[in-house]
Amino acid sequence: MEKLYDVAIIGGGVIGSAVARELSRYQLKICVLEKELDVCNGASGRNTGLLHSGILSGDHKLRTECCLEGNAEFDQVAEELDVPFRRSGKLIVGFGEEEKLCLEKLYEHGLQCKVPGIRMIGADEIKKIEPNADGETAIYVPSAGILCPYTYAIALAENAAQNGVHYHFDQEVTGIEKGADGNYKISTVKSHWTARWVINCAGLFAYRISSMLGFGTYIPQRVKGEYEILDKKAGKFLSIPIYPAPSENGDCDIHITPTVDGNVLVGPTLKEIGDEIDYSATQEKIDEMMIQGARLFPKHVKREYFIRNYTGIFPYVVDPVTMQRVDFQIQSDPHISHAVNLVGISTPGLTSALPIARRVVVKVLEQEDLLPNPAFNPIRKGIIRFADQTDEEKARLIGEDPDYGEIYCRCECVTKAEIKQAVHNILGVSTVSGIKYRTRATMGRCQGGYCETRLTSMIEQELHRDAKDILLNQNGAYMFVGKVK
Ligand SMILES: Cc1cc2nc3c(=O)[nH]c(=O)nc-3n(C[C@H](O)[C@H](O)[C@H](O)COP(=O)(O)OP(=O)(O)OC[C@H]3O[C@@H](n4cnc5c(N)ncnc54)[C@H](O)[C@@H]3O)c2cc1C
Repeated sequence: MEKLYDVAIIGGGVIGSAVARELSRYQLKICVLEKELDVCNGASGRNTGLLHSGILSGDHKLRTECCLEGNAEFDQVAEELDVPFRRSGKLIVGFGEEEKLCLEKLYEHGLQCKVPGIRMIGADEIKKIEPNADGETAIYVPSAGILCPYTYAIALAENAAQNGVHYHFDQEVTGIEKGADGNYKISTVKSHWTARWVINCAGLFAYRISSMLGFGTYIPQRVKGEYEILDKKAGKFLSIPIYPAPSENGDCDIHITPTVDGNVLVGPTLKEIGDEIDYSATQEKIDEMMIQGARLFPKHVKREYFIRNYTGIFPYVVDPVTMQRVDFQIQSDPHISHAVNLVGISTPGLTSALPIARRVVVKVLEQEDLLPNPAFNPIRKGIIRFADQTDEEKARLIGEDPDYGEIYCRCECVTKAEIKQAVHNILGVSTVSGIKYRTRATMGRCQGGYCETRLTSMIEQELHRDAKDILLNQNGAYMFVGKVK
């Protein structure tokens, strides 16, 4: 295995993969060292999937700038990378005089930040935009949108890989030293690597890499958000995300978001958890989501629509004196050559991923001239979704490949042909969740009750794996431990 690189990116979430993709525009040997077995196991696969508008980025200049930039360019990005996306707009609604004042203040802030097209509206217009939303006053934010977050992370990574970036999974970085030759010697749990440049994109654990590189020492601060996913039955009644008026620290607690696939997300409940990593789901928060969700989207937040829950965690950095959250940090230091340190990439990191990546590239170019990669191709095509095709198109696909005629996941109508393509993905991801994120198999009402064993059989056959070695999503998460009979 090749172990000497120009650039080693630590962390392959949406930020690391955006950086990988943008750096692959140049003639560089690049690798991504990722601790997990896929690119969307961290915050990048566990969020709301909202293309933020910038109105909620507070006084943080870089956050606002990156968000506005990422928002404005996303139609083109979604097209280039084949990422499901809809510019749905968003409603931030309030009830009563106090929330109305809060929204008016936020609206003024939005105008100052030049968030395009925002309008204060009343109850009648709220109902016109979304008859199933509730609220007395609202800010209508037409530039917001919804995208599939894990598909975006995968698409960036796949495009980077097509352009020559090597992804190495199961490679948790445990130590970094600068050798006498000026190169970084990077130790992981499995191996050793050498690179001229290190870019820290390690998300929740970026503080550790920051210390290893000699940048600042940060005490991890984290926010946990729990979500519920509702059935597509609720999705039929929702066209636009509905947010409540923000709390004092600027966060919008429990909101209602349609997904690009037709489900509805309720959440996140936001809770400060300090340095903990806690992905647990709690009954208390599920109950809270039901109550708060029904306030914004009455009649359709029903317990019988609940499909499953998930939790995401984002990191942030505080000012040591004021203890207030600070802006995104994209750091370089003349005393630490050939390194870029990204810490405190909180929300909206998904919306801001490519703008952040371009700022990383600028930092690299400040220290070194780079030659453009003439073979760089910004276009990535995802797996064709059989379920979304017209009848004629479906017939054509089945004619070309009979595997399109065999439905593996009944709930989401995913075919054998799609599963097979997912198993042979360019990143070499071989977990069951890897197939799920690439096809939506197991994401429907039955949550894999029907198709999960078909997925594992496909991994067994296509990748010549023993069933007992097949993992759900991470090391130790075995699908099978032995035969029942
Ligand atoms: C609840 C919630 C809701 C959000 N909603 C939105 C939203 O609607 N819109 C939006 O724009 N943003 C949103 N965000 C923010 C967005 O999800 C994040 O900013 C973004 O995903 C951060 O990406 P990342 O690559 O930095 O982090 P991650 O996806 O966590 O990636 C970091 C990667 O680094 C790897 N890693 C860590 N340590 C090491 C190591 N030592 N060695 C190797 N690899 C390592 C991890 O395994 C991980 O894969 C939300 C976040 C949360 C938690």
